[in-house]
Amino acid sequence: MPTQAKGWGTDAPDQPLRPMEFERRDLRPNDVAIKITYAGICHSDLHTARNDWGGTRYPVIPGHEIVGTVTEVGADVTDHKVGDTVAVGCMVDSCMACDQCLEGWEVFCREGCVQTYNSPDRHDHTISKGGYTDHIVVRDHFVCKVPDGMDASKTAPLLCAGITTYSPLRQYNVGEGTKMAVVGLGGLGHMGVKLGAAMGAHVTMITTTPEKGEDARRLGAHDVIVSTDPEQMKAAATRFDFILNTIPVSHEIDGYLNLLGRSGRMVIVGALTPMPGFTGFNIIWWNRAVGGSAIGGIPETQEMLDFCAANGIYPDCEMIRMDEVNDAYERLLKNDVRYRFVIDMAHGL
Ligand code: NAP
Ligand code: ZN
Repeated sequence: MPTQAKGWGTDAPDQPLRPMEFERRDLRPNDVAIKITYAGICHSDLHTARNDWGGTRYPVIPGHEIVGTVTEVGADVTDHKVGDTVAVGCMVDSCMACDQCLEGWEVFCREGCVQTYNSPDRHDHTISKGGYTDHIVVRDHFVCKVPDGMDASKTAPLLCAGITTYSPLRQYNVGEGTKMAVVGLGGLGHMGVKLGAAMGAHVTMITTTPEKGEDARRLGAHDVIVSTDPEQMKAAATRFDFILNTIPVSHEIDGYLNLLGRSGRMVIVGALTPMPGFTGFNIIWWNRAVGGSAIGGIPETQEMLDFCAANGIYPDCEMIRMDEVNDAYERLLKNDVRYRFVIDMAHGL
């Protein structure tokens, strides 16, 4: 039988989030039902709620950094059992038969993956509703295990901010000896710093907010550059092998390209909207590359969780109640979060 769910969502780009009730589907044989205990707030939730990217289907209930407890499993589920602490990120289903799915890159499923919210279900075509809810039903493959001993209250942001930064670092072999920089010290950026440092890289934080410098060092950065200071940017020319760019809005990249050394690469993970052009010379000279990266696959997400558990890596979380979400959105917009809001579902739903 479908179950009645409670959550918070919004009806329009200019409307605050409000309590909503809706139905979660009856379990299919390969489904897992999860009571949600914590949900992180990603800047993508805000972009979607405000329709910054177009394509938001209202009412939308965001949330793709989810941790909870398994309450029921479908008849064919063998990997998860009632009582397990589990986690769900940005995807809840895909075809699981195409080359991308079979290679662990479900995010690029040839039939399109089902995102955790605002995405049509592959079977009943209802629009997915995310983690700002009391429970969720997810295909088993898309449910990750929270390793034993991990602090569940701080784990949710790893499911998006963690994997989105872990994946490009692994793709481009960031490690011992890599001179890497992270641009933008927010939810993603602070995980980039922690993960890069844990992998052995020399990490520089590039920020627009001078007051974050001390924090950046506490998080693991070895050096800090304030990007609004032309002298500091000039002095850092050709210094880096790898730059992870998490700026959430369209921006000029020439200034950052100049910081890459020979065959250096900048990976953009933040800005999804059209970007201004850049000067060809700035990639041709010094053999530089510009690329992007979308979250990461499910096997890599589990690997990232295991890596964080083994190395004691957690996001810096500011815990809030569900009914404080609108205030949190305003603060996120004003760059006033250190460094991820996490909703404690036990309060204010
Ligand atoms: P966030 O917490 O708001 O952090 C973004 C940081 O970027 C800010 O803290 C700020 O850091 C810097 N910043 C903000 N506005 C800026 C501007 N106009 N110019 C230069 N720097 C600016 O956001 P988030 O949750 O980390 O998400 C970052 C972006 O990644 C969002 O657009 C989100 O949608 C996207 N995202 C992409 C993926 C993917 O798969 N690729 C996954 C998740 C999220 P400083 O104060 O240090 O400058
Ligand atoms: Zn996200």
